[in-house]
Parts: sequence; structure tokens; C-alpha cells
Amino acid sequence: MNILVTGGAGFLGSNLCARLVQNNNDHIYCLDNLYTGRKENIENLLSLPNFTFLQQDVMEPIDLEVDQIYNAACPASPPAYQKSPTITTKTSVLGVLNMLELAKKTGATLLHFSTSEVYGDPEVHPQVESYRGYVNPIGIRSCYDEGKRCAESLCFDYNREFGVKIKVIRIFNTYGPNMDPDDGRVVSNFIIQALKGEDITVYGDGKQTRSFQYVDDLIEGIWRMMNVSRADFLGPVNLGNPGEFTMLELAEKVLKHTGSRSKLVFCPLPGDDPTRRKADISLAKKELHGWEPKIQLDEGLEKTIAYFKKIVGE
Ligand code: UDP
Repeated sequence: MNILVTGGAGFLGSNLCARLVQNNNDHIYCLDNLYTGRKENIENLLSLPNFTFLQQDVMEPIDLEVDQIYNAACPASPPAYQKSPTITTKTSVLGVLNMLELAKKTGATLLHFSTSEVYGDPEVHPQVESYRGYVNPIGIRSCYDEGKRCAESLCFDYNREFGVKIKVIRIFNTYGPNMDPDDGRVVSNFIIQALKGEDITVYGDGKQTRSFQYVDDLIEGIWRMMNVSRADFLGPVNLGNPGEFTMLELAEKVLKHTGSRSKLVFCPLPGDDPTRRKADISLAKKELHGWEPKIQLDEGLEKTIAYFKKIVGE
């Protein structure tokens, strides 16, 4: 099979490519404009005969014979997607349009990477797929949230109007190797600060929650969604770890696992920061043959700390 992964040099895309190249019968095309993706994430794949890197923007038309498309391209950490909000919206919307057109032309199945951000600052807890969300359409997170919501609606419209084969996943906070140390996400920030002995920057009172999923668990869920779920199961399906932690609890765990004596400092809470988030994964368990996360936060943090130690040279 020919498989296209957009955003293939990013955190999630590169982990997915590393999994997909293991099947020598498949050829993996990794498309990335390196806006937030990083060449070092795919360095060890570049010499493989079944891997091709295409430095290109997902918004540019592409003519490629493909059987499967994973559309992961989009800046995803709040500082990265807020740097140029218009680029973020355009990447989500024009990017998925371009990939849907390619799927329409080739008959490929398109698996689109959506996000728990479509739920906004949720009033329903934990978040189930049938919840329609509570999203600010004009705030600083809107470029990402509304861009991803529009991308979902385009996927379903292409399916209804043109019969394009689609699958949509909603990804909750994910962490692990190949995260960009500078992308400003909480897990990478806390670990790097702890390793360097710098203050741990807790935004707000630190009582807001997230569910944190280790990247290998997500990749397994994505693979199952594309390859073994029923053809008529389109999603959207949540992929996340239902464990729920406050940022203060996360900071404590990072300090414990790094042995760091960094102090916590409290900084202003960014606008529209969701108060609570927790994945309901009943649907994924049912449709993805019992899929559920295997790696809990303590174990995942250990693995991620080992990765960041190499990066910050400790
Ligand atoms: N956060 C924090 N300190 C940091 C970075 C983030 O306390 O250095 C908080 C942020 O305000 C949010 C949570 O951690 O409540 C998760 O932030 P992240 O940017 O990782 O992802 P989000 O889920 O907000 O997209």
C-alpha cells in the first residue's frame, strides 16, 4: 500500500511514520513543510527504502497514488498555533480540503486528526463524542478549535456528498518522545524546567485538569481505527487516557521522577484555557476491539524524561 502522512515530521506524525514503516510491503510518504515539524524526528527513517520525505505544505495540491491518508498536519500547541492564527485555520481547513480531494480522486481512505479542543471549555464531563462542545468562536484558541471543527464537517460532507471514505479521531492531550522542547506544552515545559533546575511555570492556580495519553497508546488506536474498525464506522471517536490530573499533580509527578528541586511559580492563566478535560473512551473500546491506553502517567513520564534528558544534554 502507498500511505501518505501529512504532518509526518511532527510529534504525532513522526511516531506514526515510525510504526508504519515497519511493514515493508507499505511505502510511506511523509509530507511536512517543517513549520512546526522537525527533520530530526524522522532522521532515522530517511534512509529506509520504503520511506519518502516530501517537504511540502499540505495546502499545496499534490498528485500521488495513495491507498491511505493520515491527515495530521497542523500546528498543535497553543503557542505554536497562536503564532499565526490565520496560518493555523488555513492549514486545518484548506489542508483537509486538499486531502479530501486527493482521497476523492484516488479512492483512498482519509483518517483525519481532530482534537478534544472541539469540545472547547466543556460543560459535560467526561467528554463523550455526542457532546457538541462549548467553544468561543472569536477567542485566541478559536483558530485551532474552529479550524478543526470545520475540518470535521468537511470530512463528513465529503463522505455524504461524494462517498469519500473518511475516519475522524479526536485526540486528547498526548505526550512522549519527539515532542518539540520549545512548543510550550505543559508536559514538555515542566520536564525541561525540572531538568534544568528552573522554576516550574504553573498557569492560573494549577487546578485545571487534563487527561494525558502516552503517544504509543494513541498510535495503536489510530492504527486500529484505520485498519481494523468497521468500514462504516467513521467516528468521530475519542482517543485519550481517561486518567484526569490537575497541573499541580502533574508538576509534583515531574519533580518526583526527575528528582529536581525546582520551585513552582504561578503565572497568569491564558485566555479561554479549558477548566476540565477528561476523555470518555467507551466508544473507542467498543469499536476498536477493546483498545485502551496501557501506559499510565508515571510510566509514560519516565520514558518522556529519558527522551528530554538526551535533548537537553543531561
Ligand atoms: N500550562 C501550565 N504551564 C505551562 C504550560 C501549560 O500550567 O508551562 C497549562 C495550560 O494553561 C493548560 C494545561 O497546562 O491549562 C495544558 O496546556 P497545554 O498547552 O499542554 O495544552 P492544552 O490542553 O491547553 O491545549
